[in-house]
Amino acid sequence: MRPSHVIPLIRGLLGGLSLLALTGPATNLRAQPDQAVQDAIYAEAKADPAGYEFLRDLCDDFGGRLTGSPNNRAALERTLERLQALGVDAKLETFRMPGWVRGRDEVELLAPVRRVLRVASLSYTQPHPRFEAEVVDIGDGREEDIAPLDAKGKVGLLAPNTTVPRGQYEAAAVKHGMRGILFIDRVNGGQLLARTGSFNGEPLRIPVYSITQEEGNWMLRLLHRGVPVRVSVETRSHCEPIETANIVATFPGRTPDLVVVGAHFDSWDLGQGAMDNGTGTGQLYAIAKVLQAHAPRNLRTIQLVWFNGEEQGLWGSRFHAPTLRGRPVAAMINLDMVGFPLSVNSLGYDDLVPLLQRYNASLGANQLKQGVGNINWFGSDHTPFQLEGIRSITFGGLIPPESVRFYHDFGDTLDKVDPKLIPEATAAIATLAYRLANEPGLATTRVSAADTEALFRKFALETRMKGVGLWPFAEPPAEPAAPPAPARTP
Ligand SMILES: [Zn+2]
Repeated sequence: MRPSHVIPLIRGLLGGLSLLALTGPATNLRAQPDQAVQDAIYAEAKADPAGYEFLRDLCDDFGGRLTGSPNNRAALERTLERLQALGVDAKLETFRMPGWVRGRDEVELLAPVRRVLRVASLSYTQPHPRFEAEVVDIGDGREEDIAPLDAKGKVGLLAPNTTVPRGQYEAAAVKHGMRGILFIDRVNGGQLLARTGSFNGEPLRIPVYSITQEEGNWMLRLLHRGVPVRVSVETRSHCEPIETANIVATFPGRTPDLVVVGAHFDSWDLGQGAMDNGTGTGQLYAIAKVLQAHAPRNLRTIQLVWFNGEEQGLWGSRFHAPTLRGRPVAAMINLDMVGFPLSVNSLGYDDLVPLLQRYNASLGANQLKQGVGNINWFGSDHTPFQLEGIRSITFGGLIPPESVRFYHDFGDTLDKVDPKLIPEATAAIATLAYRLANEPGLATTRVSAADTEALFRKFALETRMKGVGLWPFAEPPAEPAAPPAPARTP
């Protein structure tokens, strides 16, 4: 970051206390952040089961919250009602995006035996009339994996641990005249993995399905023995434009300077979206509840945002972040699958590190064990804020591996969430929101586009972002290579 972006040194708590002594408690120049208020927020949040109970009801009353689905809309309205019942100023923020509706898709094994397979299509898979085809092992789905095969008219079986992005294996399959892809789940136990097939909402050209590891490996074994495998595929899922909404809750401060705390509300439909991202949704609700008791004293305005459309391409945050253009924003905190908090991450914004270290120190006995991390990452709702030049923060938190394996899968249900997880995480997160809303001298200038680009390049995120079409930076002019040879003419 350039020096102009370095947050001016904050006088800190001790300086604040001396200010209090000078001006007296009767003035509104009271030192901020106030350790007593902060401790009260922490203790109240940690003791309150409301966030978990809210999540329990959301999961069990509505199931998965696929954006655009009736379940998502009903859950959104329930959340709005619950917030308003707390007295919170919460509103829907409507936007349009490419939607996708899961239909009654069917993939049936025809040979060597008949069996209806357990499948889930990727989002933005479109309807295809029933067809029959031979199955072929396409390995990792690279061009060089598919090119040597006699793949035309066939359905490809894709390895579970491929690192080839969807756009690439689909393009290679289409190029060689393939009719569909079955990708084998990365975890066993009959799980099915949901994921977006298209970050920009463009319909897939051929149907792409998640299949279970057990049935996928069964077909692979047959193929490796030279036994022909045939399937029929009928796809009824379809794409359609939808209108959906974020929820925006505002806690006005004494200045218009903003601190944003966001979490994605939507989930995949196969499970209940309990961990991803019911945890963040519940944490944000619990933050709203505890801030409602303490917000009026804040220096800055706190905005809580439940984003929709994250799983299908960060649609809600890509809509919301640009609405803040022209407004002073101190920071954004993104909550996506935050478990028991272990660290806080300044995402490569070096100027946030001292502030977050002071925050962690102020937690006393409750300090985050791994302290402050400073590593940028891509793939959730903080990215669109970063692209607007807004410094962003995430938390590192432990979710047990036996729960993480169900991420995006059928088994992401409430039973995977420890009831203590939401209160414990909320205590740490709400405390940070309070401090960011009250630290004196916190910069609200935007990070320049050049510095933002450098930040993404520094953490080697360029390829992944380009892969999903979220790289707004112009290509640098080509370096002049060797000096032109004298004989060359213009
Ligand atoms: Zn998520």
